[in-house]
Amino acid sequence: MTTSKPVKKRFIAGAKCPKCELVDKIVLLTTEDDEHIECVNCGYKESKSDLDQGTGAPDPGDVQAVKFIEPQ
Ligand SMILES: [Zn+2]
Repeated sequence: MTTSKPVKKRFIAGAKCPKCELVDKIVLLTTEDDEHIECVNCGYKESKSDLDQGTGAPDPGDVQAVKFIEPQ
């Protein structure tokens, strides 16, 4: 990894870590060509580009409709 790239670090208010489940511990780390989130409590990391739509073009025939069904 190069050390010359500036990294912006911003806390995401209200974000909950999926690993340790603490709120307000998630930081968004932004470099000039990447974004990822990191938990300052447990060190959990997740690439934000994976969360969005990835780096390649998504296959338009493979879009899943996600339904959230509320329990009655
Ligand atoms: Zn965590």
